Amino acid sequence: MTTPSTKTPDIRCPLCHDTGWQYVNPENVKRCECRSPTSLESLERTMEAARIPPRYLKCELTNYEPQGAQLSREMQSQRDGLLYCRNFVREFPNVDRGLLLMGPVGVGKTHLAVATLKELIRRMRARCIFYDFRDLLKEIQDTYNPISQTSELRILAPIYNAEVLVLDELGAAKPTAWVQDTMTQIINTRYNRNKPTIFTTNYPDKPPAQEESLTDRVGARLRSRLYEMCREVPIEGHDFRDRRHI
Ligand code: ADP
Repeated sequence: MTTPSTKTPDIRCPLCHDTGWQYVNPENVKRCECRSPTSLESLERTMEAARIPPRYLKCELTNYEPQGAQLSREMQSQRDGLLYCRNFVREFPNVDRGLLLMGPVGVGKTHLAVATLKELIRRMRARCIFYDFRDLLKEIQDTYNPISQTSELRILAPIYNAEVLVLDELGAAKPTAWVQDTMTQIINTRYNRNKPTIFTTNYPDKPPAQEESLTDRVGARLRSRLYEMCREVPIEGHDFRDRRHI
């Protein structure tokens, strides 16, 4: 199995040690100068570093429109999803848990996750990063060095250190033992460092017969860790791109 290295790269800001937060007193922290909207760390650069796929760049919390009939479960779940994302932005960095956006394809889970990330970047220059689950595994695998038995820190350090990580399509890769071990290691590292993660997944906990659950895809150990580290946000509905159901 790949053993991701946990060494930290050079620290750039002496005031906050790159955490983005300066100590004020035991109950308070303040945003560090290096993250102020007027600092040299431009909005553009922070946004670029977040690796948001171009097709999601238009996604905002303000253009997510809950769908479905008035008072339907579908509409309510989408409204709740939007509310949880807004609350996450409002409360950050005082959030004790990430979010696990669960639901079928096309209900806007990635839209909400990206929109949340963009808002955090815009408002407080939070260092955020977006990764598709399969792409992340591929990059880790591609940089795996069988001699040192580690993957490159270039890939792993931003994943470990991002203030907020979006991991899109959790469970989408074939669930081999390597995949499950690697993901568990990454997610545990973030959990131990108190860094919230926003996950999206198409795999439910209770799928119809013959279909796979999230536990089938990520393993019981990781599923149980997700209970501890995330608020579950079920989103119901139809694929937004297929409006024929309306
Ligand atoms: P999921 O991640 O749930 O599979 P996506 O977030 O990829 O779905 O959504 C597919 C497309 O539909 C995206 O372009 C997204 O912006 C759009 N979309 C989905 N739901 C909504 C919504 N409620 N309001 C506005 N756009 C939406």
